[in-house]
Parts: sequence; structure tokens; C-alpha cells
Amino acid sequence: NQKDIATPSRTNQILKKYGLSMKKSLGQNFLIEPSILTKMIEAGEIDKETSVIEIGPGIGALTERLARAAKKVVSFEVDQRLKPILKNELAAYDNVEIIFQDILQANVKEVIAEHFDPEDRIVVAANLPYYITTPIIMSFIEANLPIDVFVMMMQKEVAQRMTAQPSSKNYGSLTVAIDYYTEAEISFIVPKTVFIPQPNVDSAVLRLARREEPKVAVTDEKLFFQLTRGSFQQRRKTLWNNLMSLFGKTDEIKELLKAALEASNIDGSRRAETLSIEEFAQLANELSLLEN
Ligand code: SAM
Repeated sequence: NQKDIATPSRTNQILKKYGLSMKKSLGQNFLIEPSILTKMIEAGEIDKETSVIEIGPGIGALTERLARAAKKVVSFEVDQRLKPILKNELAAYDNVEIIFQDILQANVKEVIAEHFDPEDRIVVAANLPYYITTPIIMSFIEANLPIDVFVMMMQKEVAQRMTAQPSSKNYGSLTVAIDYYTEAEISFIVPKTVFIPQPNVDSAVLRLARREEPKVAVTDEKLFFQLTRGSFQQRRKTLWNNLMSLFGKTDEIKELLKAALEASNIDGSRRAETLSIEEFAQLANELSLLEN
């Protein structure tokens, strides 16, 4: 009867047995606190009807717990050195498949079709290097993959930005993009002491549930995202100034922008951070009408 991988003693034993040194460049900080994993499984409501895509299994701390809770687990790991470790330490679980590939290069759609049943509920669970967490979430939701819920460990500040309210300092174009596609909430905060080695920042587990339909109706998505990003380009400037930098300063464009703002009932002297997602959608829709 072995202890869980996510305990200090078993993790240290594995590191020693295989002579593994952790790579900072791959964001290798391993979880050594089982209660965090229990809470991640609960946040994703992972059960025997759930299939899981895990990204970045490391030495298998979360993978092991997912294997026990879920129907099937497919994990992507970029570090080939972990092959023998994961093979041996997870040998007891026959519902786990590890694909040794960079997730950014993977064809996730194909993997889902190949490994999961069409009726499966699909959850993505990950404790990843923080610099790839946001691009991965965005590329997964934009690719329209059939994923119900994401349970992602991330830097606390990024989780706060993804879930911010208008008129707060963390509210920005990332907040709007996440809110457009998902219902996002911070499940719990994670202290740095539950990893080895300890990272420099605290973390949070974010739960993202995909919306069946985007939160707001937008006629031109490209324009909507261009508008939200551009409006926050210089946070301290007014919406009007950011719109001019984004679209141009000719008299003709100024007239168009004025008309769109008026039709959406938005005062150009406001700052972008005060606009709700509904207001961004309305402004984008007015602009797309005028552009055509
Ligand atoms: N899940 C384990 C845990 O909680 O202890 C390990 C977490 S560690 C923060 C991140 C893991 O992601 C490492 O094992 C690292 O090798 C892997 N990783 C980093 N970049 C990756 C990528 N592009 N694709 C797949 N895995 C990656």
C-alpha cells in the first residue's frame, strides 16, 4: 500500500529513484498536497462518466487521482524524461494514456475522437507552466472543442484577471474574452507551500464552464475582439482616445465613431474598464453596421 504520489515522501522517493532534476524552463513544480487534488476533482465534478484531458502530468500527482475518479484520462506531457517514471508509477491504472507531445503541437480534436466516447462529458484538468496557461485556454475555447469544463491551476493574478468585475483594476480584454465563452469562477486559492520546488507566486484553481452560446450576441466576432483589445490598449486614456488610435483619426472615422457611441448610449469620455460586456457587444454591433 503505497502513499499517493502527491505526498512529500513519495514525491521525494520518486525524484531520487529516477535521479530527476526539475526543469524550471518547463515550469516543473510538483504538487505534494493531496487535499488540493481532491478539491480540483470536486471542482470539475469528475466522476466515472467523465473523460479527462490532462496537460502536464509531471510525475503523475494529479494523473493518479484523475485515474481513480474518472472514466478515462489522456495526458499530454512534453518532457520525454518522464516516460519511465509515469509508465512505472501509474502501472496500476489501465484507464490512463500518456501522449508525449507538446500540447501546443497536438491535434486535440483528433485525440478526443480517437480516445473518448461521443456521450462522454469532457473536462480539461491542468497544472501547467503559467506562461502557457492563458494561450492554451484561449486556443481550446476558440477551436470550439467539445469541452464542458476546465479546471486549471494558475497564477493567482491571472485567475483574478479572468474573473474580474467591471470598474476593477483587474478587468480587461482577457476578462471580456473569458466571459464571452465561459462562466468563470475561482474555486480556491493555493499557497506556494504545496509545491516542490516552491514557486515565487501564489496560485488559484479556476473553473471555467463553457457556455452553450456566447454570453452576448455579436454580429462580427473579429471586430468585437479587436474593439475590446483596442479599447484597453492604454487603460488610463478615455475610450474615445483608444478608439481613435484603433480605427484612425480622419474626420470621416470620427463621425462614424461618434454615431456608433451615440447609438449605443456610451459616453466616449469613459474609460474602457467601466464598460460591461453587453456595452462592448452593442458598440461592436453598431460599428459593424456602419462599416458596411
Ligand atoms: N501536474 C503535475 C503536478 O501537479 O505535480 C506537474 C505540474 S508542473 C507545474 C507542469 C508540467 O507541465 C511539467 O511536467 C512540464 O514538463 C509539463 N509541460 C510544460 N510545458 C508543456 C507543454 N507545452 N505541453 C505539455 N506539457 C508541458
